[in-house]
Amino acid sequence: MQNNGSYEYTEICDSIWQIKEDDGVYCTLVRGSELAVLIDTGFGRRNLKAFVEAQLTTPYMVINSHGHPDHVGGNHWFDTVWAASEEWEIIRRFQEDQVAYEQKELPVGSQISLGNLHMDIIPLAGHTRGSIGFLVKEQGILIAGDALNEQLWLFNDGSLSMNALYHTLQKTMELDFSYYLCGHSSEKYPKEKISAHIKNIENLRVDESSKRNTLGFETYCSAYSDLHGSSEILFTADKLEQGLPY
Ligand SMILES: [Zn+2]
Repeated sequence: MQNNGSYEYTEICDSIWQIKEDDGVYCTLVRGSELAVLIDTGFGRRNLKAFVEAQLTTPYMVINSHGHPDHVGGNHWFDTVWAASEEWEIIRRFQEDQVAYEQKELPVGSQISLGNLHMDIIPLAGHTRGSIGFLVKEQGILIAGDALNEQLWLFNDGSLSMNALYHTLQKTMELDFSYYLCGHSSEKYPKEKISAHIKNIENLRVDESSKRNTLGFETYCSAYSDLHGSSEILFTADKLEQGLPY
């Protein structure tokens, strides 16, 4: 862990840093030879823009992985922010009167060239409808926001069904990468760990899931672990209305 001014960060590799924001939230900075990308802006209590610009000699883009307030709260520090078109409604709902910056729609499936690095914009619908991932091809790393968190939240504003999540997880396993990063951890996880989420859903039993109150929602927690890793999925009962995918 390195400390630079007001932020600590972890170097995942030369070009990818996990920047520690407040309350366990991480933003990711990807530094290419001609362009950098800042993924997410945390709660935004500190001046993330000043920190990021002190680290860079290139232009940069700011992109939200999804619209939850712990990932978009610092958007107000920047002039322009990008996100998937389907996610802007959620971002605006959480920001109320703070949306003074330019809002741009990032096409899912597009590729951004950073010079020596190339980043594919991947659909990761589940945690929210417009959640996106960033596959840095040369490094074999997928930056996943909250879409693949070890404790995966499938409730709250914008989340989809268990079926939709399962489909996304299967599709993600087909992509070419070796490691992934999440928005609430500085760890680099092996791709195989995603299979624990898939197995969790395949073995999911509501009557074996523990019930708890999470942020005012009546949620169930389904837990699973094997050699590949562990998975917890927190969901509300309505996420199972379409049934389970098997
Ligand atoms: Zn989230």
